[in-house]
Amino acid sequence: MSLDVIVIGSGIGGLTAGAMLARYGKRVLVCESHAIPGGAAHSFSRRGFQFDSGPSFYSGIGNQRPSLNPLRQVLDILGESLETVPYDPLGYFHFPEGTFPAYSNLDDYQRAVAEFTPQGAKELEQFQRRMLSLYDCLKDVPAIALRSDWQLLGVLMGRYFPSLLKMLPQLGTIQASVGEVMDKTVRDAWLRRLIDLECFLLSGLKAHGTIVPEVAFMLGERSRAGVEYPVGGSGAIVDALVRGLKRWGGELRLRSHVDRILVESGKAVGVRLRNGEEIKAPVVISNATIWDTYGKLLHPEDLPGAYRSESLATPAVDSFMHLHLGIRAEGLEKLAGHHVVVHNSDHDLTEPGNTCMISLPSVWDANLAPEGHHVIHAYTLEPYEGWQRDESYQDKKRERSQSLFRALEKVIPDLNKRIAVELIGTPLTHSHFLRRYQGTYGPAIDASKEMFPGFQTPISGLYRVGDSTMPGIGVPAVAASGILCANTLVSPRQTGELLK
Ligand SMILES: Cc1cc2nc3c(=O)[nH]c(=O)nc-3n(C[C@H](O)[C@H](O)[C@H](O)COP(=O)(O)OP(=O)(O)OC[C@H]3O[C@@H](n4cnc5c(N)ncnc54)[C@H](O)[C@@H]3O)c2cc1C
Repeated sequence: MSLDVIVIGSGIGGLTAGAMLARYGKRVLVCESHAIPGGAAHSFSRRGFQFDSGPSFYSGIGNQRPSLNPLRQVLDILGESLETVPYDPLGYFHFPEGTFPAYSNLDDYQRAVAEFTPQGAKELEQFQRRMLSLYDCLKDVPAIALRSDWQLLGVLMGRYFPSLLKMLPQLGTIQASVGEVMDKTVRDAWLRRLIDLECFLLSGLKAHGTIVPEVAFMLGERSRAGVEYPVGGSGAIVDALVRGLKRWGGELRLRSHVDRILVESGKAVGVRLRNGEEIKAPVVISNATIWDTYGKLLHPEDLPGAYRSESLATPAVDSFMHLHLGIRAEGLEKLAGHHVVVHNSDHDLTEPGNTCMISLPSVWDANLAPEGHHVIHAYTLEPYEGWQRDESYQDKKRERSQSLFRALEKVIPDLNKRIAVELIGTPLTHSHFLRRYQGTYGPAIDASKEMFPGFQTPISGLYRVGDSTMPGIGVPAVAASGILCANTLVSPRQTGELLK
């Protein structure tokens, strides 16, 4: 069968682009290197425990309440849906001075802040008002309708003119960093750290490195659609996208590592797999990172030299230490599912080991663990440099995971006696199983200085999606990148038909 599109990688970005193009009637093949689809969002099991390898925090992916999450919009278009479990508070932030319950409901959130800082709670109201006024404009233009070329103007003018007018006074804020808004509205040091933490959890960077629309969208969606966990774990989201891809005639090939993007006369013409097989298509979309796509999948001479070196010099957020545990659950019936532990307030939040993220998804979906057990994923930033599989590897692995054990003991003091399954992952594990350059979380692109690159490349017929393209890191963002790419490869009329 001749193909229209080959997608390299089945992360959420790749699956979104592939499934949407299949929905548009294109013949699509997704080639995934791993035996399990989903990239950072894949689930895996060991001895009856089902683990999330990465994301566990979602808003507006189920059908219970209206949502603007681009992922949900894609699932709607594909005719797929997810069963989800809503919850609030969305998590507990454990600071050295006390535990803060973070609520989706903004009034409850403000009340919880007031317990720590009454002045901060007043400033928070102002900060949230600025964010929500932007969300109110953005929410009128659904991501599913967007594209990334000059024809966007026609779409916006034709369908969303009143919303555009509403957005005009907000243009300055749309391009600003959250830090700039925070500098204007928030003086309270405790609240500033809380906003930095929220941004860090979202983008991997603190407020001054995070773009305003990302946080405006997060706050708006949290309060409107709530926070929820997909039954079956993050793998259930991947399964829904794969079902959608196949339902519309697309194909997914696992264990199909792409070694090379084939370029002839400046045009992408297909891919070569590791086993030597060549597959041809006039459009190739890479879901691999910017460093992997330009550094490994192309010959240096395929790209203009300056463009290549500038792209490869994109700074990367660190990688991670991971703990995947299966534990005995007796006596832990009241445990909440999400926790963030900050060990030391005098150290930077982004310092490796200082901020530890914990999720216990079996709190929401008991089927993820054998009866009477919980499944846990904890992770913290860890630089890739210095990690190698030599004789010191096992000792270093144990030593560098201690901050995660200590964080977990704040939530489950007798953790040690409960462990039934223990898996410790390092940046080498992360880069191996997620096939990502240096196991990075994604590009460290500072919102106050630069924007994420678009999906176009200098090679005709070659496009990129995923977290090293606009709008950035996170499941909703990479789904949006897939939408932008897919819509731009068809006419606005075809998108209009689909949206009907
Ligand atoms: C620990 C962690 C926690 C996170 N938590 C959250 C969260 O709670 N909420 C949230 O919204 N986001 C979260 N994120 C971010 C989010 O998971 C990612 O931004 C997103 O899933 C990345 O998707 P992607 O499409 O860019 O590609 P990836 O997930 O990186 O997938 C790329 C795919 O391409 C494949 N591939 C690469 N090279 C090749 C090749 N040469 N040939 C074939 N296949 C190839 C890989 O195997 C992989 O499957 C988290 C991320 C991590 C790591």
